[in-house]
Parts: sequence; C-alpha cells; structure tokens
Amino acid sequence: EKSGYGNDGIYRSLRPPVTIPEDPNTGIVSFLFRNTDSYPDRVAVVDVDVDQTLTFRELRSVVTLASDVLFELGVRKGDVVLILAPNSIEFIQVFFGIVGIGAIATTCNPSYTTTEIAKKIKDSKPILIVTTENLYPKVESFNIPCLWIGPLSSGLATLASPSHISFIYNRILFGSGTSAYSGDRYPRIDQADTAALLYSSGTTGTSKGVDCNGEMHNVFICFLPMFHIFGLATISFSQLQRGNTVVSMGKFDLETVLRSVEKYRVTHLFVVPPIMLALAKQVSILKKYDLTSIKVLASGAAPLGKDIMEQRARNLPQASVIQGYGMTESCGIISIENPYEGVRYSGSTGPLVPGVESKIVSVDTMKPLPPTQIGEILLRGQNMTQGNRWVHTGDLGYFDEQGQLFVVDRIKELIKYNAFQIAPAELEGLLLSHPEILDAVVIPYPDAEAGEVPIAYVVRAPNSSLNEVDIQKIIEPQVAPFKRLRRVTFISVVPKSVAGKILRRAYREGLR
Ligand code: AMP
Repeated sequence: EKSGYGNDGIYRSLRPPVTIPEDPNTGIVSFLFRNTDSYPDRVAVVDVDVDQTLTFRELRSVVTLASDVLFELGVRKGDVVLILAPNSIEFIQVFFGIVGIGAIATTCNPSYTTTEIAKKIKDSKPILIVTTENLYPKVESFNIPCLWIGPLSSGLATLASPSHISFIYNRILFGSGTSAYSGDRYPRIDQADTAALLYSSGTTGTSKGVDCNGEMHNVFICFLPMFHIFGLATISFSQLQRGNTVVSMGKFDLETVLRSVEKYRVTHLFVVPPIMLALAKQVSILKKYDLTSIKVLASGAAPLGKDIMEQRARNLPQASVIQGYGMTESCGIISIENPYEGVRYSGSTGPLVPGVESKIVSVDTMKPLPPTQIGEILLRGQNMTQGNRWVHTGDLGYFDEQGQLFVVDRIKELIKYNAFQIAPAELEGLLLSHPEILDAVVIPYPDAEAGEVPIAYVVRAPNSSLNEVDIQKIIEPQVAPFKRLRRVTFISVVPKSVAGKILRRAYREGLR
C-alpha cells in the first residue's frame, strides 16, 4: 500500500527502518559520542549569547566533568536533578552530565513562578537543582541544594549550597578533560532506564537512541527552549549525536537569529508557527542578512497553514520549507515531511518516522479508519514512552493515500501558546479558589502571534461585583506571563456532560 495502511488497520512507516544499538547497556551519552573520534575538532555547540564554541572533543570532556561533579556531589542512578535555565552550552553539558551517570534530568520553564515550580518539585522530587544566578531566587526557598551555571556576576561558579560545590564546579569550567572518576564508578545504564522527565505533557522519556550515521554535517540553530522536547531531543540531542553542530540561543530574537545564521552558516532552522509567520512577514529584515546557507526550514509543535509555508518558501528559494508533528510522549518527532523529496506545501505533517506505527480511530466507535478519514491519532513504537501500547494523542487527523499525515485538531483540552502548553484545568482551579467565583471554564482563543491564548468564561457569585480586570489581576501573580487570561466573559452556567466534564468544545466551536 502506498499509504502504508495495512489490513490490520495499522499505518506503518514508509521510511527505511533505523537500527537501534544492540547492546542493552547503550546509554544516551555513550551513544551521543559513539562516533566523535572521527570528528573530534568539529564544532559541536556554539553559544551565541557568550560567543563560546566547543568542539566534540571538548563537549565530551565537559560532559564527563559534569558527570564527575554530580557524582562527587552524591547524585546517583535514578536520582532526579532539575535544570531550571535558559538554553546555553552549560544546559547541554549538565543535561548529558546528569544522564551520563544514570540520573534523571527534569526540566522546567524558567518563566514559571515559584508556586508553579513547587508543583513540579513535589512530583519529581529532585535532589539537586541546577539553575542560574538570576533564577536562583525562584528556588531558594525549597531548601534543595543548588548549583549555579551560566554567567555569574561575582566571578565564575559561585556557589549556592552546599558550599563545596563552587570549588568542584570550577572544574567543569576549567577542567582539562581527563578525570579521575569517570567510567568505572558509574553504574551501568540500560536502554530501558529513564533519562529524562519532561513535563510538557507530564510524561517520561527513555534512553533509547536511534542510529543515523553517514549524513552530511549540518548546522542547526536552537532558540526553542531546551526544557521542551523540541529544543532538547529534536534539536540538541538528535543533531549532536549525528555529528551536527548546534548553535544555542538563550532567547529568541529574530535579528540575532538571522545574524547567527549568517555568521555560523546555519543550514537548518527548526521553528514553531509564530516564528514561521515572522519569517514570512518581515521580509525587509531578511534582506539584511546572507541566508543562503539555509537548506531546511522546519515547523512543528502546532499546526501551520500551507499559505504561510508557501509565502516563506518564496522568500528563501533555496530552502525546503517543511512541517513535522511531534509530542513529548514520542520523545520528539512522529512524522515529518522529507525535505529532499521535493516540496509540497500541502499542510501535511509528512509521513511517519521509522519505527512509528499509527492508527486513526473513529472517535465514536474506536474502529480503525482507512486513508482520508478523520479520527483520533493513536501511536505505537519504540520511541513512545509507553513502549508497545497504543498512545492516544488526543489529536484529530488523517492519512492521505500517499501516507502523509494531516493533523486537523486536538480533542484534548490543552491550550497551546507557541510551543508551551497551558492546561485549562490549572487556570480553572485558580479561578475556582476565589470565593466570589462559582464556576469557570478556560479555553483557547486564536491569536495571530502565539497561536492560542487562554480566555475564561466565569460564573460569579450572586452579589459579586468582580469585573474582567479584577479577575485577570487575581490570576496574574499566580502564573507565568504566557498563562495570563487575555479575556474574561461572564456567564450564568458552565455546560457539563453527564460525567461532569466541561463541554469545552461547545465554547471553542462558538468562537469560530
Ligand atoms: P508537546 O508534548 O508539548 O510537544 O505537545 C504535543 C502536541 O502538540 C501534539 O499532541 C499536538 O496537539 C500538537 N502538535 C505538534 N505538532 C503539530 C503539528 N505539526 N500540527 C498540529 N499540532 C501539532
């Protein structure tokens, strides 16, 4: 079948399979560096913000040092370490340092408030927090040992607690690369061990790796956050393990991106739709830079209209403009268009990546559906956190006759602000905790820049005089800026199903 659709109702990847290392004890870090002896002096990571560059040999050595430091601090296999930091060389170094000793890295959006971080801490129970000097005040009160990375105002690597960390940490920055500890003392890491706990959708990732040798050397720029699967797995890990260069940026800024593309001859730009939009619209800025190195411009994390893709492609004629579909539970990409296959601009998210199987099931009957019919997308594969069970994505979509997956909508309720998820239930909970608010429903509202923003429908207590601004102000100090309510409308009752579930779709459809 051209579409990959089998008699059993399962769509299978049309791409050639990848080989997964046979040795069950291949951890992420040994996999990452398995070939680097053949290109030790190639640039692995560039940090745009501090203008620092590391070769693969140097990256390996700083990762080893980070592992040593963490081990010396008492971090052991299975322990959780929280990284709360913007993108940087040190983020990458510490992430692999943690994973390299079999500990579990968890990440958190630096824009979260202390209360939001507290929830993650409660759930993941980190024994150590790695953060920056600027972000430290947000985690100071937790009484968990902290390690500071990144630019420090008072000299390098000052410490937090316990006090010997600063001394040890200096070795990460100044270390010669050979270490007294690495290797033998570390526990064995199994492919099935958990490497990272990513909360974007509240799931775990396993330390599986896939082999992609023999590709050309490419340069990827990473301004998408490394605390999210997109920046962490799809860009940083996936590209470094292939021997590609990752150019790290702490904060997105269009001009800095374009300047860096020119300076480092970036070949691949992985973006989210709002950035694609900016690239499509702000043509005059584009003209200021030499962008001829760009070969592929790929968008993911949220739907991207084909018009924008076409427009974008016109501004950058030498580049393939493609779309992919992914989620935290899949450790990254599920489907992606093939940039070397000729460009289509159909709005599809491309064919399934190797090893991923999918079913499209009717939302009503749960029966598998053939090509062109829309249903919920179910996934199975070694990259899925739940192993061989079918994962319900909560997304609606269909395959066409050529095996291209189209993602149409989401059944699940999450609001997507750029790549960030906002759970309506969280904002509803905060609203409901106010004595004058009887009931509330939070839904996404389309937004040209962010994709979606949260808005609320609120049922007030009979004598309440709360107005829209009052309610926005109640929420504001309790959440990260992207979660703030952009609009509040008063209603008399929130419609619910017999099972007590809010009928959010009714609202969402009402807005169209
Ligand atoms: P996350 O776990 O934060 O990466 O979010 C995963 C969700 O993002 C998916 O379940 C989809 O709802 C959405 N998503 C990702 N890529 C796309 C895409 N290309 N088109 C539409 N939705 C997407």
